[in-house]
Amino acid sequence: MKEPTGRIYDIQRFSVHDGPGIRTEIFLSGCPLSCLWCHSPESQHYEPKIAWFEIRCIGAEVCGQCITACPQQAVALGKRKTSPVDNKEIQLVQIDRERCDDCGLCAEACPAKALCLTTKEITLAEVMEIIERDRPYYEKSGGGVTISGGEPMVQYEFTLELLKACKEAELHTCLDTTGFAKFELYWQVMPFVDLFLYDLKHMDTKRSQKLTGVPNELILENARKLAAAGAKLQIRIPVIPRLNDTEENLRATAVFCRELGAAVQLVQILPYHSLGAVKYERIGKTYKLVNVKAPDEGRMKEIKEFLEGFNLKVKIH
Ligand code: SF4
Ligand code: SF4
Repeated sequence: MKEPTGRIYDIQRFSVHDGPGIRTEIFLSGCPLSCLWCHSPESQHYEPKIAWFEIRCIGAEVCGQCITACPQQAVALGKRKTSPVDNKEIQLVQIDRERCDDCGLCAEACPAKALCLTTKEITLAEVMEIIERDRPYYEKSGGGVTISGGEPMVQYEFTLELLKACKEAELHTCLDTTGFAKFELYWQVMPFVDLFLYDLKHMDTKRSQKLTGVPNELILENARKLAAAGAKLQIRIPVIPRLNDTEENLRATAVFCRELGAAVQLVQILPYHSLGAVKYERIGKTYKLVNVKAPDEGRMKEIKEFLEGFNLKVKIH
């Protein structure tokens, strides 16, 4: 039988914000949503995309390997910049995204790792070997494994196998999900998930469509069904100033969480940040929320207290 294989864009060890204790977080590629504030735009694509890290490029005059390696003639000379190391001018390259088919040959040729593909295949055994390295930390901290994305249910079969393997290894599991997948799939993974990290981004379906690219009916329905079936949920609300932090939306979210009853263990509010903006440029996309500022500590405390007013247990981050 073929070994289960998935596509990941990252693995983070010693993660402390995505579930209890110290965790290893597996980030799977592919997502049906395209949230305007997404800080991992590379995660939205299941297929690999070529990413270019300007800071690592040593310049076409001394290198230029990518230009000759590209069979599509998609790499050309781009802007010039002054090197922060010796103040010399560097001739950078640029990728014509219309021509590029993300074959990755330029990344293979690049000596500086300035070009790389955004996703790679990994076997279940390889992931489990990495997970096992930190077992003593999980045991001491009450941590475990978090499967995240993207949306892990895009790779439902691999997610299921990974969850099963973690439970066989007696590890605590979290599934970080947008809620946007068929309920039948959640039903299959449920016995192997200790805690769902469940995103609620907007309670108004038209706003949801506009901000995330999908309506919210399925997301809300799945949350109700999971709660009714006995799953444990940690609700996650990204706080995006002016886009989803109105009193009306926060109230509707809180009322919904109360409706889910004892299934909701915790509500986690996550302040918007723009640290992912630079990643858009790397893969030839445009970041649209340039004028949105991160909420300050005072605002986050205000939201926390507001939600606590609905008898919810709330934490920031
Ligand atoms: S990924 Fe392939 S097509 Fe795209 S720039 Fe690199 S070599 Fe050219
Ligand atoms: S191969 Fe890499 S380091 Fe060389 S010019 Fe291209 S991007 Fe820059």
